[in-house]
Amino acid sequence: MRAWRLILLGAPGVGKGTQADLLRQHLGTCHLSTGDVFRAAGKREASARSPAMAAALDFMHRGELVPNATVWEMVRERRQCLHCRGGFILDGFPRTRLQAESLRTLMQAEQIALDAVINYQLPVEEIIERLSGRRTCEQCQAVYQVTRQPSRLEEVCDRCRGTLRERDDDRPESVKVRMQAYEHSSAPLIQFYRELGVLLPIAATGSPEEIFARTAGLLNATLRG
Ligand code: AMP
Repeated sequence: MRAWRLILLGAPGVGKGTQADLLRQHLGTCHLSTGDVFRAAGKREASARSPAMAAALDFMHRGELVPNATVWEMVRERRQCLHCRGGFILDGFPRTRLQAESLRTLMQAEQIALDAVINYQLPVEEIIERLSGRRTCEQCQAVYQVTRQPSRLEEVCDRCRGTLRERDDDRPESVKVRMQAYEHSSAPLIQFYRELGVLLPIAATGSPEEIFARTAGLLNATLRG
């Protein structure tokens, strides 16, 4: 099977995490979500966090972007993911043009080529509606949505029976800040990948399965094209 090397872009709430999960299951790729790494660090004892990580978590809880240097350090520590035999999916990284440039330099040094940068697109009103009903499993990070994709039992994860919670940064005051941060930083990022000729815009409308089918179809079309 082909090893896909992909980046997922899209505003918070477009369903990147869900698509990353489906892509991982179907393509056998390694999945690296910087947001998941920060959330996992947030669950550790406060005394086990480095000062940079403690500061990063403060940014995250306010809905702001974590400084580039901290994010880059964390990605560099996990750069073996880029060599995963099944390929990789980067989800939530890069978020700024500087991060994208650092990643490109690293990939060039390690002689790894990027196949596609998927840009999931959805109208802002729909994003806000999806985020306001999002629930995440505190144990396995599975994502649900109270109306679109509910768990079988209320507040209980179908997969691991963990407790479902609303993320701190899915609260309306943080959502507003995150959307502004996304709009501010994503435009130059999208332009960067468009110029490299790897950008693949995909409508994130419909059910997760429909979005996945659309994604798989377009990825296969890039092979034929
Ligand atoms: P996510 O789960 O991707 O929405 O990320 C949750 C939060 O983690 C973001 O709102 C940021 O505070 C932080 N974060 C995750 N990835 C990055 C990144 N690449 N650059 C800066 N901050 C990030």
